[in-house]
Amino acid sequence: MKKDVRKAIIAGNWKMNKTPSEAKALLAEIAPLVKDAGCEVVACVPYVDLAVAIEAAEGTNIKIGAENCHWAESGAFTGEISTGMLKEIGVEYVVIGHSERRQYFGETDETVNKRTKAALAAGLKPIVCVGELLWERECNITEEVVARQIKLDLWDVTEEELKNVVIAYEPVWAIGTGKTATAEQAEEVCALIRACLAKLYNEAAAEAVTIQYGGSMNDKNADELLQKTNVDGGLIGGASLVAEKFAAIVAAATRN
Ligand code: PEP
Repeated sequence: MKKDVRKAIIAGNWKMNKTPSEAKALLAEIAPLVKDAGCEVVACVPYVDLAVAIEAAEGTNIKIGAENCHWAESGAFTGEISTGMLKEIGVEYVVIGHSERRQYFGETDETVNKRTKAALAAGLKPIVCVGELLWERECNITEEVVARQIKLDLWDVTEEELKNVVIAYEPVWAIGTGKTATAEQAEEVCALIRACLAKLYNEAAAEAVTIQYGGSMNDKNADELLQKTNVDGGLIGGASLVAEKFAAIVAAATRN
């Protein structure tokens, strides 16, 4: 039912893994396994792998994404990459505001918002990550934390632009820890996010947004998570580095 109005997206977040030659090999392994996918398949890879990955994905149904972008078009921002640079080489998606960037690299909702707007202006599809810390969940403030992030991260994003935004709900305590949110917890927060979008925009706009779950999703738990009405896909870290596991998650999204 939900697939009538929105697209399921399974995206791998490779983080700081795979050299260009390893990226080429992994994509060659993944491609035949996902060729009949009934969902969008994306691999978000390190900057230096992008060109090779785009070449390797040519003629397949795999889309390539970056793991970050800067908001300025150019200038004195040593070590950063602009949206124009990504766009010119054929990147389609970009992960923004991943909890590892918030945690280790000082990313704030303000910079997430700037990067999101820049990505949209360049014609990239941002995968905007939100999610609560364990401490925040224990204090029972998940709802307000996530609502605040959605409001700030999408500040000044128009209803038209929202059509190209993907939200990834990633409880920080579940990322790379092997602790998955239960399907009920994932559904509860993804539904909250959708309600928040409905308040900020309107019901129809909110219904059309793809909301992924991320946090130790794997080949074993994907079906249960993806069966939920408001879980429209996954942002996958560890399991995206193993072709068979990633393909099994894509198969689960195709089934559900
Ligand atoms: C992620 O990096 O976004 C992620 C969800 O990682 P993992 O699947 O390894 O928890």
